[in-house]
Amino acid sequence: MRVVMKFGGTSMAGIERIRHVARLVERQAASSETCVVVSAMAGETDRLVQFCKEAAAHHDPREYDVVVASGEQVTAGLLAMTLQNAGLEARSFMGWQLLEASGVHGNARVEKIESGALDGALRAGTVAVIPGFQGRTEEGRIATLGRGGSDTSAVAIAAGLRADRCDIYTDVAGVYTTDPRIEPTARKLEAVGAEEMLELAGAGAKVLQVRSVGLAIREDMPLTVRSAFEDEPGTHIITNWEEADMERIAISGIAADRSEALVKLAASDRPGRLAAALRALASEGLSVDMVAQGPDSLHFTVPKTNLARALKALDGAKDAIGQTAVTSDDNVAKVSVVGVGIRSNPELAAKVFDVLADRQVPLLAATLSELKASALVPDEQVDVAVRALHAAFELGE
Ligand code: ADP
Ligand code: ASP
Ligand code: MG
Repeated sequence: MRVVMKFGGTSMAGIERIRHVARLVERQAASSETCVVVSAMAGETDRLVQFCKEAAAHHDPREYDVVVASGEQVTAGLLAMTLQNAGLEARSFMGWQLLEASGVHGNARVEKIESGALDGALRAGTVAVIPGFQGRTEEGRIATLGRGGSDTSAVAIAAGLRADRCDIYTDVAGVYTTDPRIEPTARKLEAVGAEEMLELAGAGAKVLQVRSVGLAIREDMPLTVRSAFEDEPGTHIITNWEEADMERIAISGIAADRSEALVKLAASDRPGRLAAALRALASEGLSVDMVAQGPDSLHFTVPKTNLARALKALDGAKDAIGQTAVTSDDNVAKVSVVGVGIRSNPELAAKVFDVLADRQVPLLAATLSELKASALVPDEQVDVAVRALHAAFELGE
């Protein structure tokens, strides 16, 4: 039996908590080969990102990765020595020693796990501790996997090691019907379909990084989210639903995402204006999420972090687009209702927008897909929207 355990930032925040994690690892290691993936201490990555911003507004992304990857290196070393101090065989392996990454710095993708040395250590009964969130590029430089990327590290390492399962330990007891910090009556799910989890994570439920879920599906890796602080069963992510003997529920949950900004173009209605705008953004490597069109307007959302670049790209293509003015609004948020019911009961999607209208929440843009109905609303109304939808779909305790 081989198990990968991943501990998030809250569980690693300080020596006392690391000691607690060491006890959980010790218990697990009594019955399996055990590999532990850790996050930086809570707040540490934000602090490091802030340093980068202060050092240089337009910093080299390769150096950004050197800085922000350091938080996980600290916690990996500290956990390894705490385990050793408790009498276990343990050692750390750094991300650059075993995880090959590619793509852009700051948001790199996992290419491959070099499992040789790690495999040997596990077979010899050593607990391996690995910093999440980081790997090495082809050029031999440190790269990070995007915010929340330790989840993806854990699943990739579990797949690379052919582990029997990957357990994500975090500061809530599992995946809930919505963020329990927004809605206290949110209910913990015993199981959630991987497709629905993919949608929830993509729609802003940061309990799992979206790419970790995609990877678990592709690798068919059993994945569980559970509490690092309470000993209770967590939520199983079901990659193979047919085999599970549970009734698949129609609406799995509600997610909120505050990471996008709305771009508003005033542009007369002419063929090709949307294509021209998308092409201008694509040439900068930028993609859009929601789109809303009117006779004299074209609205869409881009990640807040890319807003300045998007506005510049659009300005450069204003003749092709035919725009007369561009404005933007970053006080917006997206609320999404996720579940297989959206596909099978079209009236559920209608209900989403009814509930928002009832609460007089302005609708700035909307999208519908197989498993998800999303609405863009003013930032300050998003919690109200989440709670209203959670109640209307009777998701609570
Ligand atoms: P970690 O540091 O362990 O990776 P994160 O902060 O990244 O933890 O993710 C856990 C947080 O995700 C929770 O504290 C919770 O506020 C938030 N969250 C958002 N949506 C959900 C959801 N549907 N179920 C559980 N937690 C959620
Ligand atoms: N420490 C990184 C972050 O805060 C990665 C992670 O915790 O998953 O984004
Ligand atoms: Mg996380």
